[in-house]
Amino acid sequence: MGRHTPHRETDVIVVGGGGSGLAAAVEASSQGATVALLEKRPRLGGTTGIAVGSFTAACTSLQRAESVEDRTSWHRQDIARFAPHRESKNNTSLRSWLAENAADTLEWLLAMGVELGSE
Ligand SMILES: Cc1cc2nc3c(=O)[nH]c(=O)nc-3n(C[C@H](O)[C@H](O)[C@H](O)COP(=O)(O)OP(=O)(O)OC[C@H]3O[C@@H](n4cnc5c(N)ncnc54)[C@H](O)[C@@H]3O)c2cc1C
Repeated sequence: MGRHTPHRETDVIVVGGGGSGLAAAVEASSQGATVALLEKRPRLGGTTGIAVGSFTAACTSLQRAESVEDRTSWHRQDIARFAPHRESKNNTSLRSWLAENAADTLEWLLAMGVELGSE
């Protein structure tokens, strides 16, 4: 007797239920797609679930509320200071993309009710 294989249709399959996968699943769902999220571990979270929780971004609403002047270019330079001994291995175009999109990502998280510490 053959094994019964469940059949389910979905618009999007996301593999991995850490921060990236959950963000992809939320965004796809908010665009009206049906989403199946596959996680190999018993719990969601991945490395994201054990991370310290710091989020760096420039030109955010939180900074504006505190009259903090900042620039994406300064953020990019600060990232380079984080691990200077590994600088030769860094991907500068990805770093630029990160710095340019960090503020929008932060606002997206805040709009969903994510609470950040005050440090
Ligand atoms: C101790 C620590 C502290 C950190 N602190 C910070 C911080 O403060 N700020 C910061 O910005 N970054 C921090 N980082 C880095 C950050 O946590 C990671 O860059 C980020 O969580 C990666 O997210 P991700 O979604 O790509 O991966 P993950 O969160 O690891 O998610 C990947 C998921 O995919 C699952 N998976 C893998 N393979 C499969 C498969 N074949 N099928 C199904 N599921 C699969 C995994 O089980 C996991 O749940 C920290 C990292 C560590 C280790």
